[in-house]
Formats: sequence, C-alpha cells, structure tokens
Amino acid sequence: MSEVSPGVINAEAEKDQILKAYRALLRALKPSLGKGDKKMIRLAFDMALEAHKDMRRKTGEPYILHPLAVALICAEEIGLGPLAIVCALLHDTVEDTYMTLEDIRGSFGEKAATIVDGLTKISGVFDKGTSLQAENFRKMLLTLSDDIRVILIKLADRLHNMRTLDSMQREKQLKIASETAYLYAPLAHRLGLYAFKTELEDLSMRYTEPEVYKDITDRLTQTKRDRTRFINEFTVPIKDELNKQGFTYEVKGRSKSIHSIWSKMKRQGVTFDEIYDLFAIRIIIDASEDMEKAMCWKAYSIITDFYHPNPDRLRDWISTPKATGYESLHTTVMGPSGKWVEVQIRSRRMDEIAEKGYAAHWKYKESAAENAL
Ligand code: MN
Repeated sequence: MSEVSPGVINAEAEKDQILKAYRALLRALKPSLGKGDKKMIRLAFDMALEAHKDMRRKTGEPYILHPLAVALICAEEIGLGPLAIVCALLHDTVEDTYMTLEDIRGSFGEKAATIVDGLTKISGVFDKGTSLQAENFRKMLLTLSDDIRVILIKLADRLHNMRTLDSMQREKQLKIASETAYLYAPLAHRLGLYAFKTELEDLSMRYTEPEVYKDITDRLTQTKRDRTRFINEFTVPIKDELNKQGFTYEVKGRSKSIHSIWSKMKRQGVTFDEIYDLFAIRIIIDASEDMEKAMCWKAYSIITDFYHPNPDRLRDWISTPKATGYESLHTTVMGPSGKWVEVQIRSRRMDEIAEKGYAAHWKYKESAAENAL
C-alpha cells in the first residue's frame, strides 16, 4: 500500500520545524557559547519539549515553538547569553506543566530557578486579568525580579505573543494589544530597548486602530520610492567625503514608526503629508571605543559642510548619554530641496546599545554551565 496517512506527514513536518527552530537558536548563540553551555541548552530544550509535548498554541502549532521563538528573540534581538536562554526555553514550564522549580534548580542551578520563578510569578499576577496602573505595574515588576533578565525574557515573551496575535479572538486581541501599549511598550522604553518599544507599539496599533494603521502603512509604501531617491541624493556627497577620509561606516534611512507618525498627526493636528520628518538618516561608524567620539564629531563636521544645521536641533547624547544608556549625536540639517532632515551619527557600539538596550549589551552573557555546577 502506498497510501500515506496525513497525520504522519504532519508529525514529521512538525518535528522538522522544531529542529529547524532549535538549530537557528544555536546559530544565534554561537559567539556566546562557553564550554558545556551547548549541553545545558540542549537539556533545557529536551525538558521543555517533553513538558509541552501535548500542548498546542492557538495557531495550532506545537507549543514548544513558542519558547523556542522567545529564546531566539532573547539571543538575537537582546543579545542575552546562555543562562538566560535556558530560562527562556523553560519560561512556561513551571506555570503550565508538571515541571517544578526543584526540577529546574536540580538541572540548572539556583540562578536559573530564581529567574524562572520570577517569570512564573509575574505571569500569575499580570496575565490573569488583574488591571493595574502602569506605574504600579513597573514597580511590581521590579520588586518581583531582582534579576533584570526576568523582565527582558518577559518582554521577549510578550513580543512573540504580539507577533502571533492574529490567531486570537478579537476581544482577546484588543485586551492584549492595549495592555501591550499601556504597560509593556513603556517598560521597553525605560530599559532602552527601542526596537522592542517601537515594534510593540506598532503591533498594538495594528489591532487597536486597524484603519489608521493600514492607512499609514499604505502611505509609507506609496512614498517609499521617493524617500529612497531623496536619501540617496542626500547622502552622495557625504559618502564621498567619508570615503575620502577613510571612514568605515554604514548609512541607513530609517522611517519613523507607524505609531510615532500617528502620535505626531494627533499631537500637532497635521496630515501625513504635512509631517516633515518622516524619516531620519543614520550613519553608523566602525570605530574603536577610544576613537568613536572624535569620529562621530568628525562625521558631524563633514555633514554640516554640505548641509546647514539647525542649531536648535543639535542633540549631543555622546557627551551626556540618556539615562537609558542611549548614546548618539543628532542634528537636523537643511536638505537639497529645502527640507529639514534629521541625521543621527553613532558608532557601531552605540547603535547596538540603542537597538538592544544597555543592560543586555555588556552584562548577562553568563554561562549556563557554570551556574549549574
Ligand atoms: Mn510564554
């Protein structure tokens, strides 16, 4: 008989999908894997796989794909190390399965148990329909978690849930989306995780304000060609000069997030076409830490040789970083067609901090193996 049962094919395909996700996680972790860490991560994966084996997400997928995705976000988008990845893989086990904190302590040590315990408690307090003021939420989070990794993993968890919100019922979508905008996005902001904050806000808006969201998205798409052409023309002379002076750098044109465009439209009572700073140009410079400040100012000087700066709009967060650790030099200059353009100048290191947050950049690369000893 050549008949193949579709159930079998599914199971095989799912196994494949799970292994693929696991391998992607290992690849993302490679630079921070110490001796024994790979083994620990494999153990955490196997334990989570077994514990969640009969569970499925609302999307119909095997549940394990969720902790795998959360762990990948922690590794790739926050830059967390092996110990945090072990905890991300196990983050839903104590709450939703037969596994206990003792199991985790036994296999991965005290610190991993503390982090998973924090995650379980947060979930017990916040995900069960308690409504809280944003400020209280933040305070409670901070007291529940003396290790900031608890919060970082929780944010990754929320981000993945938001990315997969489509499969939820409308009512649930609205509740989760508004909670995200109200509680989690400001929290990401406080921790300097700007990429998270922006994505959480945009995703939330997609559900709470679907029409406006679609309208702005469409307009951004329609105007993309013009923007790209403008950015290219604008940066030609700057690039020439940077090359001449031996800089290694990257130039990016970054359009404002959908949420911040919408906020500005509301705040200033303007239409989409009236927003002059739809995008910023970012120059990321490769420089050693002792040279980066001087190089950023040198780049500033090159830019303002070509374009006239608005003195009121100079922001020097290099000499005085923001409380979140954000460092960057911002200037607004008069572009070729008489349009103001914001230019952000920063080193590769500063860019990494700006995207992933200060806390994760230098700390929390901790080995899982050493903690389990
Ligand atoms: Mn989760």
